[in-house]
Amino acid sequence: MNTSEMICKSCGGNSFVQAMDFINLRPVDKKIALGSERIFTVCLDCGEVVSIKVKNPKNLIR
Ligand SMILES: [Zn+2]
Repeated sequence: MNTSEMICKSCGGNSFVQAMDFINLRPVDKKIALGSERIFTVCLDCGEVVSIKVKNPKNLIR
């Protein structure tokens, strides 16, 4: 993901790091679904999470 044009809405900074957690987000009604990891885009200056993206959204509808 291109973060070069993003601006932190909290501090106005434009330096970001992307981080992922390894607890899959799962659909509420399909406990056996694979689910998907989330990718967080975090401001390096203030720690604001400017974006949370589901890596494989189609895994939520299977
Ligand atoms: Zn910031």
